[in-house]
Amino acid sequence: MRIILFGPPGSGKGTQAELVEKTYGFPKISTGDLLRQAVRDRTPLGQKAEKTLGQGKLVSDEIVEEMVRERIKDPDCQRGYVLDGFPRTVAQAKSLDRMDGRRKEIVIEIDIEVDTLIKRLLKRRICSRCGAIYNLELQPPRIEGQCDLCGGPVVERVDDRPDIIRERLRVYRDQTEKVKDFYLRRGVFKKVDGTGTVEEVFSQIKRLLDAELAQGEEAKTQR
Ligand code: AMP
Repeated sequence: MRIILFGPPGSGKGTQAELVEKTYGFPKISTGDLLRQAVRDRTPLGQKAEKTLGQGKLVSDEIVEEMVRERIKDPDCQRGYVLDGFPRTVAQAKSLDRMDGRRKEIVIEIDIEVDTLIKRLLKRRICSRCGAIYNLELQPPRIEGQCDLCGGPVVERVDDRPDIIRERLRVYRDQTEKVKDFYLRRGVFKKVDGTGTVEEVFSQIKRLLDAELAQGEEAKTQR
């Protein structure tokens, strides 16, 4: 099964994708995480993408498509995977169909107001080593500045500055929202309310996934 978490920056896709991975064993594939890792490792791709990330603009379709194409070939993705931050353009959505078309899929939008997003993004911190996500108010690391999971330094993301946040929201409105129509037409688009606590949002996602997985089982036993 392919699970696509959809929503603007700051809606909680990354945090919820981590919970989906922990609960169901579907690996989280976050194109943002993969790109930030490439920047940290100073790979040729990372060096090419760094400026774009810092400006809050989208990296080229070809670059992210190639990253996803390679990642989903890994054996841990055979049963399924959860995508965070991909696809972000209609071209990417079409490309995903071409690279892995036959999979059962569900797209879950995390719906949230812009004011809440901005507040959350300003308080967001990430581990610069493993990418774990924190919020200074709601989910701070146990020891200030240090990742609970790997002990790495917990820092602000370069693109979580007010001017860059505005640009990312503009990019979302202009380019990514169209992806919604693409999946609405296909009848796989669902929505959850993203304003509650992490646990409240996850319980809505879990309900959708459990129903979807139960359907899959039913189809198998009828065969
Ligand atoms: P995220 O962590 O999902 O907020 O992504 C951080 C940044 O990585 C974005 O602002 C883009 O510059 C880049 N990025 C991540 N995913 C994509 C994608 N699917 N297409 C293009 N650029 C992306």
